[in-house]
Amino acid sequence: MNAYDAIVIGGSAAGLSGATVLARALRKVLVIDAAQPRNLPASYLHGYLSRDGMAPNALLAAGREELLSYGGEMKETKVNSLVQESSGAGFVVQCVDGTTIGTKTILAATGLRDELPEVDGLSEQWGLGVLHCPYCHGYEVRTTAVAVLGGENRPFTMHQVLLIRQWANDVVFFPNEIVLTEPERERLIAFGIRIIEGRIARVVSAQGRVRGIELADGRIEARETIFVGPRFIPNDELLKGVECAVGENGWVTVDPAGQTSVPGVWAAGNVVDSPAQLINAAGAGSRAAIAINHYLLEQDVQHALAATRTLAGNRTIAESASGQPLK
Ligand SMILES: Cc1cc2nc3c(=O)[nH]c(=O)nc-3n(C[C@H](O)[C@H](O)[C@H](O)COP(=O)(O)OP(=O)(O)OC[C@H]3O[C@@H](n4cnc5c(N)ncnc54)[C@H](O)[C@@H]3O)c2cc1C
Repeated sequence: MNAYDAIVIGGSAAGLSGATVLARALRKVLVIDAAQPRNLPASYLHGYLSRDGMAPNALLAAGREELLSYGGEMKETKVNSLVQESSGAGFVVQCVDGTTIGTKTILAATGLRDELPEVDGLSEQWGLGVLHCPYCHGYEVRTTAVAVLGGENRPFTMHQVLLIRQWANDVVFFPNEIVLTEPERERLIAFGIRIIEGRIARVVSAQGRVRGIELADGRIEARETIFVGPRFIPNDELLKGVECAVGENGWVTVDPAGQTSVPGVWAAGNVVDSPAQLINAAGAGSRAAIAINHYLLEQDVQHALAATRTLAGNRTIAESASGQPLK
């Protein structure tokens, strides 16, 4: 028995937005959230129309309040398995607290994990003095001494170092693990970016702020802000568990409304779209919710048709048995 029309896994920008659309469409919806949104380490969010400078948790608290006001439900825990019912009529969600809940549809909005380069002192400053997105925080740090630090995500970093120079005049690139080609070096220097080669030993911080970068040979370059290119790892184990198709890059594929290859399963936000900012994730959640509602509407129509036909069939049988038309 499916207790819910939709279970939304993940209760941040994408999940809360989708769930609220469904609740306002009078669908029975439950959000299950492990409460670890990606931007939680940051003090403020930017680029979300009318919410500039808000704390990440305050945005979500307002979103949860809106959802609950329309009859949506929330549960704070982690989903550890998702199983398709053998009849194909829905899904069973199992949480780490032992509860199992049935639902007709799923919206996965589980986000992604940022895997940072392994440098001492880097992760402690993540979201504070260590950032990845100039569109989120470039404006705020434009007058600081910026470092860009090379890691495993070469394509992202090579773009990022040029991009951040658009905001900041004082940018130093530490290629670290990245070996530059001559044309790349030429482009960076021509664009006013200083390059410091050598293995990085650690990020130097004091009083909670980034102060510089120390190289393996002991040199310290004073810096106030560090940009890095993390590896983006989607939290898509549940989707892959129900055999959602993946693309060549290994990410789960969705149509423009977030529909996966498995009927009844949608995905929205960073779990399927790594560049999505908060406002894009919220938009994708909303769009997926509308598609889910249309899918449920068609199911409702099919059930109504089946019930009408059963009633008509029973009536015909009763009439032929009695030899009289039923009134
Ligand atoms: C440091 C930093 C700062 C940023 N600043 C900005 C900014 O200023 N402006 C901006 O637009 N964007 C910013 N971003 C990007 C922003 O974080 C993402 O766009 C946004 O979080 C994507 O939303 P989402 O709903 O897809 O995923 P998330 O916000 O990551 O939410 C996913 C939710 O799903 C939950 N979850 C995961 N797995 C499970 C499970 N199995 N069961 C239950 N729950 C689960 C998680 O705990 C989490 O609560 C920033 C990112 C970082 C890293």
